[in-house]
Amino acid sequence: MSNVTLCIEVAVFSPLRQTFSYLAPDPVPKPGTRVSVPFGKGKRLGIVLATGPCPEGITAKPVYQVLDAEPLLPENLQKLLEFGRNYYHHAPGEVWSTALPSLLCQGHAIPPPRQTGHILSAMAPRTGEGLRGRRQRDLLEKFRREGTVHEDSLLPPERQTMRTFIKRSWVEPAEVPPVPCRARTPAYHLGADQQEAVGQIESSRGFAPFLLEGVTGSGKTEVYLQVARKFLEAGLQALFLVPEIALIPQIQERCEHRFGTEHVAVYHSGLTDRERLLAWARAAQGQVRLLIGTRSSIFVPLARPALIVVDEEHDPSYKQQNGWLYSARDLAMRRAQLEKIPVVLGSATPSLETLQNVRTGRFQHLQLRTRANSAVLPKIEILPLRRRRLEGGLHPTLIQTCAETLEAGNQVLFFLNRRGYAPALLCHDCGTAISCPRCSSSLTWHQSVRRLRCHHCGHENPPPRHCPDCGSPGLLPAGAGTEQLEEHLSLRFPGIPLLRVDRDTIHTQRQLRDVLSAIHSQVPAILVGTQMLGKGHHFPAVAMVGIVNVDQGLYSADFRAGERLAQTVLQVAGRAGRDSRPGRVILQTHVPGHPLLGHLLQGTYGDAARHLLEEREAACLPPHTALALLRAEAHQAGKVHAFLEQARGCAPQGTAIQGPLPSLMERRAGFHRAQLWIEAPSRAMLQTQLDIWIPRLQAIPMARQVRWILDVDPHSF
Ligand code: ADP
Ligand code: ZN
Ligand code: ZN
Repeated sequence: MSNVTLCIEVAVFSPLRQTFSYLAPDPVPKPGTRVSVPFGKGKRLGIVLATGPCPEGITAKPVYQVLDAEPLLPENLQKLLEFGRNYYHHAPGEVWSTALPSLLCQGHAIPPPRQTGHILSAMAPRTGEGLRGRRQRDLLEKFRREGTVHEDSLLPPERQTMRTFIKRSWVEPAEVPPVPCRARTPAYHLGADQQEAVGQIESSRGFAPFLLEGVTGSGKTEVYLQVARKFLEAGLQALFLVPEIALIPQIQERCEHRFGTEHVAVYHSGLTDRERLLAWARAAQGQVRLLIGTRSSIFVPLARPALIVVDEEHDPSYKQQNGWLYSARDLAMRRAQLEKIPVVLGSATPSLETLQNVRTGRFQHLQLRTRANSAVLPKIEILPLRRRRLEGGLHPTLIQTCAETLEAGNQVLFFLNRRGYAPALLCHDCGTAISCPRCSSSLTWHQSVRRLRCHHCGHENPPPRHCPDCGSPGLLPAGAGTEQLEEHLSLRFPGIPLLRVDRDTIHTQRQLRDVLSAIHSQVPAILVGTQMLGKGHHFPAVAMVGIVNVDQGLYSADFRAGERLAQTVLQVAGRAGRDSRPGRVILQTHVPGHPLLGHLLQGTYGDAARHLLEEREAACLPPHTALALLRAEAHQAGKVHAFLEQARGCAPQGTAIQGPLPSLMERRAGFHRAQLWIEAPSRAMLQTQLDIWIPRLQAIPMARQVRWILDVDPHSF
């Protein structure tokens, strides 16, 4: 009889694709628990993925330590990560370390459940004996009456008495029955469309995906809150995803106001590691009813999940841009499927992928056709820029309308998705732009700090005195960014408060909160912002929106650029006239005749989306096909090319591959970048090919000399 030794398969927290086998300790750790293992010359932490007979031909080492008795994640989430690992063909250790709070990856323990309650202990006085004063008698009486007493339910003098009780060990901490969640009722009734949407979601059974489409201000958030209410009051949990941290304060406030602060928690990168771990644990232990978070909160375990909402589902921020390139929106679908619960994707401007899913009947379509508070939808006007003298980058009509809007006591918002003073510093004599030494891109001029900065790699330097090409001293800023717009507008409208919101002026959540409340309190005012202002916020006093420059989006080689442009314009437009004031939206452009602008102008997002979907179909692009990119980068362009050629050579027969093609940005942070496009008629067929191909890549001689990664369903090129 052969003596089979038992091994555990471990995903070490690292970007390595392979897993490692170690001798199984006794008792055998469960999948999903952490172990510390010998690795190279050192020690690493990893996750147990499976147990089985030791692979032949290796001498498995014992583990150092088993850290957990129980899996860190419930089974459904383990399955989600397994799916994510396979679908994105990514290293399992990095999949897990992306999904877990960083302190857990460093070996910290999960904090025990919060115990705000106490019960009487065996040492508590049975009669009034030993009690001093009425306060103590009253508190003892309260314990006898209520069993468990919450610290929160005590008045300050009672808390003092409580401390005495604790000191004398008359009471002991107890897991308290959770405070029931009772939502406040809003002061208004749901509109017919809202009611229909709430009804449909509430009455769904098991996994049910919905697209909730409604213009900004149509009351989508109200629908999420109403649906969540039913679940939360029943003791279940909901997860709300928002695309970026800047949108959290607003929705957090609404949720806390509706459900009570004790039931709501947030999870995002602005928290400290400790706060993140705590929020994670509270959600996992079922003590938080509603978790609001950014991308990575899709991996936070919930004890009793009942609903997932993905707000602004079209937003590209849901796709992770480095490491494990997952889409939180797509994983939300998979998670809801595993948990057998409804998932609601909300947007005023749904992604083409989601619209396609509606067309094919995979998603149920819910529409909110009017604005909740009967506010009027703004009209978009086009302002041709040809042959016009601009003032600080603005058409004179924009400035004129701005002046009128301010005079009428309203706010004006200028949207410009470009930080800094000018996107380039140009030589007046030879036309050379000062470019980043490490990227194929020009440096942005930041005038207030007098620095040239690269927005791609972070490189910065003071401005040169002379043109590096011809030696001329005539270097001038070209084009306009938010900093220049701010300067110009503050000169033009002295005395009017001017609030600029971009990554150079806002660094923390606190600053954002402050500027948002300033926006709400200062009327009239001018707001200048990048997409930080364009997304999701509610600005009742904004009566005019000026869209300063979206022309890059009309020319871009990125096939998603048109979709993004349509979404951005309508999202920004949605900031105007959200209350009773009608809004004006003015878009200045060099290409007023562009067909996409025509669709935006005359019709709705639906018309523009239909046009874009047709274009994609004609070009055999997603969502009509499935796409993956094999991206590679190295310091020498030759190596990148050689690797991609070899990779192409070992692809399974019948795989449709294009390339090697240079990336849209050929050089970045000193790396040359190129890619292969892999296309297939469906996601399933693409996966079949990748399953065969990716393992082969590891064996390619050049694979160790370049950095490479697979990007499934890519968002940037
Ligand atoms: P969205 O999420 O689609 O942008 P919101 O849910 O934020 O829309 O609603 C916009 C505004 O309308 C909010 O101030 C909200 O309180 C209000 N609102 C929502 N539903 C109703 C309703 N049925 N009646 C009146 N006001 C509503
Ligand atoms: Zn020059
Ligand atoms: Zn750079």
